[in-house]
Amino acid sequence: MKLAKRVLPLLLCLLLLVPQTAFAAAPTPSTASRSVQTVYLYGQPVTLYTYLLNGENYVRLHDLAWYCSAGSSAFSARWSGADSAVYLTTGGIYISGGTENLVHTPGAISTSLIQPDPYTLYVDGEPVSVRSYTINGYGYYNLRELCAALGMSVEWDASLRTIVLREQQSSGTKTILVDAGHGGSDPGAISSWLGNESGINLDVATRLAELLRSAGFNVVETRTGNQTVTLAERQELIKSLQPDLVVSVHHNASESRTGSGATVLAQIADQYGGPSRQLAELLNSEYASLGRPINSIVFRRGWRGDYYAILRAAAEVSVPAVISEYAFIDNASDWRAVDSAQDRAAEAQAIYRAVCDWFELQSQ
Ligand SMILES: [Zn+2]
Repeated sequence: MKLAKRVLPLLLCLLLLVPQTAFAAAPTPSTASRSVQTVYLYGQPVTLYTYLLNGENYVRLHDLAWYCSAGSSAFSARWSGADSAVYLTTGGIYISGGTENLVHTPGAISTSLIQPDPYTLYVDGEPVSVRSYTINGYGYYNLRELCAALGMSVEWDASLRTIVLREQQSSGTKTILVDAGHGGSDPGAISSWLGNESGINLDVATRLAELLRSAGFNVVETRTGNQTVTLAERQELIKSLQPDLVVSVHHNASESRTGSGATVLAQIADQYGGPSRQLAELLNSEYASLGRPINSIVFRRGWRGDYYAILRAAAEVSVPAVISEYAFIDNASDWRAVDSAQDRAAEAQAIYRAVCDWFELQSQ
């Protein structure tokens, strides 16, 4: 959703309210204990050995960096004794120091063991305010503040009794509507070999949604099973949700049953350049790298703007949208591109890469 514009002025106001003492050394806590927390990261439970100082979790950079290195929240950490600084780089590769996850038993410790941390923390070159202490010779950082500095959010899940770390993009989480074409009473194109187009669309769309979610996108799907969703309902969803992007997954067929190659349909407003065309071009280059023949990008005008309902509804609320037709499923020369789980996973990954590259392009 287009939250960024509304949230930005509020954020600026809040920043003005941050006290100027934010970078001062944290005061010695009055209570301290060792703790073990189950943390959900990338949807998986991991064990974090933390210190609870005044009831707040403090974590070692090594431990968080180690766990984050498995996914898209990876960051590298470099210590510099010379300038008393720790430099974190988001997206960087964390090199294991061999001392991650030092096991400890929960229990109270004396606050006299806790020293103010002399290091200044930098994230991507900017100093950040994260309370930290040296405990037993290691730096421990306030989990909530550290995650915020790294662009992640921390939530307490009362039902799981765990902490959930979620990735978020600094400009606000992007919402993507993944539309699996057809479904239910509308089978779409029918292939004598592969069954209905609606099932193939759903398979690819579901894989795509999963990939995008694991990368921290907010993903909404028009359908997650074989139910009927009318075009009008899809249009309504686009207009009420106003996502940052709509990707509609289809597969092709033609009357002559001789079609071949990938075809991407984009919005007419972008015929000579613009976000929808950019994504279509990125998709085509990904599809070409998988060996698909590439057809010209289709821009089709109807009575009231775009001919295709999904593209038109999105254009009406200024949302970029594309329809992807990865292969023709009505003839043997083309259906082999989507006849296995590996093929469909490769197709979903290609769309995922194009979408990630596209968001990167939009942020420049
Ligand atoms: Zn279709």
